[in-house]
Amino acid sequence: MHWEEFGYRWIRIASITTARYFVIAGLAFFIFYVLFHSYLAHRRSQPNFPGWKHYSRDIIYSLITILIFATIGSLVFIVFRDYTNLYDPWDKYGAFYYFLTFPAMLLIHDAYFYATHRFMHHPKLFKYIHKVHHLSTNPSPWTAYAFHPLEAILEAGIIVVIAFTLPVNQPALGLFLLFQFVYNVYGHLGFELYPARFNKTWIGKWVNTGTAHNQHHQFFHGNYGLYTLIWDRLFGTLRKDYDQKYEQVTERKK
Ligand SMILES: [Zn+2]
Ligand SMILES: [Zn+2]
Repeated sequence: MHWEEFGYRWIRIASITTARYFVIAGLAFFIFYVLFHSYLAHRRSQPNFPGWKHYSRDIIYSLITILIFATIGSLVFIVFRDYTNLYDPWDKYGAFYYFLTFPAMLLIHDAYFYATHRFMHHPKLFKYIHKVHHLSTNPSPWTAYAFHPLEAILEAGIIVVIAFTLPVNQPALGLFLLFQFVYNVYGHLGFELYPARFNKTWIGKWVNTGTAHNQHHQFFHGNYGLYTLIWDRLFGTLRKDYDQKYEQVTERKK
């Protein structure tokens, strides 16, 4: 058995993910919540700031999430590796295929997230799995990994889904997960970064924004997407007041 290797990998994933959490969420927090919080106040989705009671709770849940991610990651990458479609070297199937796996992973994760997110909002399940993430009705960068352990398992499921279906280079999957975390921090930032009227452009109509996810935290219903609004538009779950809110946040005077 590969248990020694499993242990090393577990420590590696746990430390890298913890460092990444504090560096990326911490940097976003420092820039938007400390340095420029008044200069950028006009771009804020909700005027108030959550406060340390919320930040510390979200950080504690995120650290538990990281331990679960490290466990599932090590199981996939070490123990069950031979059964996955992970491949080496990166250009085994050519450069074109390698680069194609990035949008493929994004679309797979987008659909997986939408489906599991809707599932967790089922009234019979909500309080057991997803309520922890919604304790932040006004999220901050620290909310990015603030999940109940059961939700953390479900969120880590994307690693299992991708590794066992799509032939993918393992470092590419790692790079994708880094991008996922950055977008996740943006989604919970509480400030809109995309330009005014982006929501009306042909591409912006399909891109999920911080404003959309902030509304999801504030109102609990609608805007279930992750990277795109494809599934929300397809299933009619995009909030009717989304465009109005987006315009209000991005066109407000300084
Ligand atoms: Zn939710
Ligand atoms: Zn969220």
